[in-house]
Parts: sequence; structure tokens; C-alpha cells
Amino acid sequence: MKKDLLYSGKAKSVYRTDDPRELLVEFRDSLTAFDGKKKSSVEKKGFYNAQISAELFRLLEKNGVKTHFIGMASGNEMIVRAVDIIKIELIVRNIAAGSIAKKYPFKEGQPLRPPIVIMDYKSDEYGDPMINEDIALALGLASRAEMDKIRETALKVNDILVGHLGEHGLLLPDFKLEFGRSGGEILLADEISCDTCRFWDKATRKSLDKDVFRFDKGDLVAAYREVARRVVPEIFRG
Ligand code: 5GP
Repeated sequence: MKKDLLYSGKAKSVYRTDDPRELLVEFRDSLTAFDGKKKSSVEKKGFYNAQISAELFRLLEKNGVKTHFIGMASGNEMIVRAVDIIKIELIVRNIAAGSIAKKYPFKEGQPLRPPIVIMDYKSDEYGDPMINEDIALALGLASRAEMDKIRETALKVNDILVGHLGEHGLLLPDFKLEFGRSGGEILLADEISCDTCRFWDKATRKSLDKDVFRFDKGDLVAAYREVARRVVPEIFRG
């Protein structure tokens, strides 16, 4: 049962439930980019992101990755285990795109092998700056052992996602993960969706993700629907 609102972010709202160990995450249709400077709302975006995230969490659980995912309460509402979010964003990059191609002499579209793992400090106030282990430790964000664990898990998630999405004609240039602590365990948390990943069509290399919104590349809902059609085809049946 959905109860009071605990927290409302840029694209998701988190509610308490009857069980203090579980939360309800509502995926909303609103979206922002460039530190909230660009804003919009697109019908069904929340539904597609929730369904894609749920399916990818199920896939990861099946492959031995512990996540916060429990189940769905409705089309765009996910029940998750309550965690303390670690304020580090793990970004895994397989192909140069976005900020890395601006800050360093990588060419957009260049393969990055082995994949590059980057840590950002999750902070709106400071604009999510890139950090390293020493900074994370000095800020008290996580221990070395926790950082080893989340890096190793991020690379495992990458292997699983690249293989699975590849079978559905999708490239995964990069994505962002967040982790949380719960009962002595570290769980993969947040979401894995078109808002947090770059998905490119394998044949055309067209963006099927939030870059469509960031850079006005066309019909956002059509792009998100296309990823959902490939990743969770069941939702389009009957
Ligand atoms: P970039 O550093 O190129 O902006 O982002 C790299 C990848 O991580 C992209 O897939 C992007 O969607 C994701 N990412 C990085 N930081 C954030 C963030 O604060 N919010 C969201 N939604 N995605 C992020």
C-alpha cells in the first residue's frame, strides 16, 4: 500500500509502504537535463522506463546480481527494498559518447576496450563532479571494500547488459548505476532505463535514449517505446 511521499526527485517519486523495509518508486513522465536547466514532460515516459528497468533488474537478478527490485505495483510503480543510497554514481563506458568525448580526445563512437568505469559524486549542489577513490574515502562516501564491490558489480552488470541488449539489436555506449546499503549487503538500486543509459540502434547507431531530449534529436516517446518493444515485448501483447 502506497503511503506518504518520502522524496521527489527530477523523474521519480518515492513513497513509504505498509512495510518499513519496502518503498514504492513512481516513475514519472517529467524529465530534466543539464542540471535541471532543460525540463519537459512526455506521456508514457514513466511507464516505459519503469518497465525497461524492471525487466533489466529481473535479468540481472537471474544472473546473480543483487538488486533492490521486488516487483511492480502498477505499470509505472516499482516496489523496492529500502536502502541507504551510496552517493557515488558509477558510469560504465563501452563507446565514447557524451561528456567523455568533450573532456578528452576521444572520438564520439570510438570503442573503449576494456570499458572505462568512472565515479561521480552524486550531488546536485556540486553538479555531480567526477571523483576518485581517495576523494570518495575522504568525503566518507564509501569504504575501499565497498568501492571494490561496486566497481566489480558494475563491470559484471555491463557484461550481462551488453550481451542481452546486443541480442535485441541495441548497443550500450554507457550507463549510470547507483548502489545502496541494506542489512549489511550492497544492492544495485535506482533504475536502468532510457534516462540513465545510452542505447543506440546497432544498425543505424541512432540514439534511443535521453539524448533525444537533450539534443532535440526527434520523437522521445517513440525512442523509449522502441527500446521497450525490444527489451519487454510482453507489454505490447494483447
Ligand atoms: P555523460 O557523462 O556523458 O553525461 O553521461 C554518461 C552516462 O551516464 C549517460 O548514459 C547518462 O545518461 C548517465 N548519467 C550520468 N550522470 C547522470 C545523472 O546525473 N542522471 C542521469 N539520469 N544519468 C546520468
